[in-house]
Amino acid sequence: MPNKYLCPKCRSHLKVEGRIIISAKAKDGSEGLISLSPEIGNYTVNFPSTINHKSGDLLNLFCPVCHQNLASSKHINLAMLIATDEKRQEFEVFFSQIVGEQSTITMIGDFADLFGDDVYKYQDLFKPRQMF
Ligand SMILES: [Zn+2]
Repeated sequence: MPNKYLCPKCRSHLKVEGRIIISAKAKDGSEGLISLSPEIGNYTVNFPSTINHKSGDLLNLFCPVCHQNLASSKHINLAMLIATDEKRQEFEVFFSQIVGEQSTITMIGDFADLFGDDVYKYQDLFKPRQMF
C-alpha cells in the first residue's frame, strides 16, 4: 500500500488518519470533502450528506489545500495524485471520478499497472508494464 499521497500541484499530504481526503463537487454544484481508501483496489468512498450524487455521476475533484482541479491530462474521467511507496519512490495514481466506477492505474515512469473491474475503459491510454 502506498505510504503517502500528495497533491500533484502543491504537494500537500492528502492522507489523514488512514484516509485520503479530497474536495469534491457534484454536477449540481453541491460540494464537500470525501474520503477514499489509500489501498489500491479498495473502492470504498465516504461522502458527506452535502454532496448529491448517484452511481455514474462525474464528480470534479480538487485538492483541499490549493483547490486546484485534480483531473489528469490522460482523460477527463481520471483524477491523478502522486503517491510514494515504502522505498520513497514516487509514482502516479490515476483513479476514476465517476461515482461507482472501479478504475485505478498506477504509473512509474512510462509503465502502468491497471486495477479494477472498469479499468478496461482506459487501458488504451496507458502502456502496460513489461512482464519478464
Ligand atoms: Zn494542492
